[in-house]
Amino acid sequence: MAFSRREFITTAVLGSLSLSVDAQEPKEKASKVRQTMTTGPYPRPVIICAANGLNYLDDAYAFLKNGGDTLDAALRVVKGPEDDPNDDSVGLGGLPNEEGVVELDSCCMHGPTRRAGSVGGVRNIKNVSQVAKSVMAHTGHVMLVGEGAERFAVAQGFSRENLLTEHSRKIWLLWKETHSDWWGPGLANPNWKKRVKPGSPQSEEWQMKIKRMEEVAADLGIEPGLRMCAIRKVIFPPTGTIHCSALNDKGEISGSTTTSGLAWKIPGRVGDSPIIGAGCYTDQDVGSAGATGSGEENIKVAGAHTIIENMRRGMSPLDAGMDALKRIARNYNGDKDRLKYTDMTYYVLRKDGAWAGVSLWEGYEADKPHRIAVHDGTKRAEKTANLFPGFSQAWPPTPGSLVY
Ligand code: ASP
Repeated sequence: MAFSRREFITTAVLGSLSLSVDAQEPKEKASKVRQTMTTGPYPRPVIICAANGLNYLDDAYAFLKNGGDTLDAALRVVKGPEDDPNDDSVGLGGLPNEEGVVELDSCCMHGPTRRAGSVGGVRNIKNVSQVAKSVMAHTGHVMLVGEGAERFAVAQGFSRENLLTEHSRKIWLLWKETHSDWWGPGLANPNWKKRVKPGSPQSEEWQMKIKRMEEVAADLGIEPGLRMCAIRKVIFPPTGTIHCSALNDKGEISGSTTTSGLAWKIPGRVGDSPIIGAGCYTDQDVGSAGATGSGEENIKVAGAHTIIENMRRGMSPLDAGMDALKRIARNYNGDKDRLKYTDMTYYVLRKDGAWAGVSLWEGYEADKPHRIAVHDGTKRAEKTANLFPGFSQAWPPTPGSLVY
């Protein structure tokens, strides 16, 4: 990602000072953003996923068309980013925890047999989506975590490997040397305050800090063209993840979500991705939904389950997803000073083939809107519908390094 210093400072600092984000009640907005949904009649099969799954949709769609199982189709999609060392949000090459160790989370639900499997905080095994399926298929449990999940995976024939690539290790070191701190009260703390009032000389301080970070990045051997991107990942621990839901022409539906989770997290931190009902939820009678974004926020609204229950009560995929986003906004009383540090995208597929992609904000940067990838005979990526106009600041800032 090319990121000039000027753009970076504008986004990271001036953007965070800006109070101009529309603070209107999101209600009217939702009705104006109906582009990201099908209008019917709804084709089947359909696969939807996060944008990083786009390149893997053709293979999974052909597999579904040939009678393949819906969960196996979804797993074909998410395996792509898990295996890709250049996707630093999932599987191999995922950004590590604060100790430099990659810890992965995943869950899945198989609609036709109404089963689920999940793993959290797994080290050394890259295809955790398939380990989650193995938990579902080969145990009487639903969720395994940590060392036990890793040992189970090895017993199932998965190989251990080092998941930390050189690329991710260098960005982790940059974080460690210049910005490391997750400790302290977080964004949801009732006493959270802006530390510095808008108008203070933040830009200058930030320019100095960023200059220092550039020097450390150079020392670490991070290529000049990649330095601003690495710095951004340090300051705003990035989101990524992949969710995929797949529906076949028999109306069977399944979903899977897999991630390396929040970069630089405290070891043992588990986000929403392996939580059935938060990062993914599938009900064969209704549909399937999944999430990427601020896991802490999504867990609190049980996002994927909320969406499925909304659709069960008759809401469209778009309205069902928007309602879950509004619950996140409600948890902060609509306070955009805080909400701009969170983001969430939901991928929603109804059993009849109608789908929607919805996000809290338009994207992380002006030229990078949130997207949903879809294949319903035609493969494409479309902008999601957003609850709030404008752009988030990518991720909740680490509690110890909030700057305003
Ligand atoms: N939701 C994931 C988590 O909180 C992160 C992400 O979507 O990138 O772990």
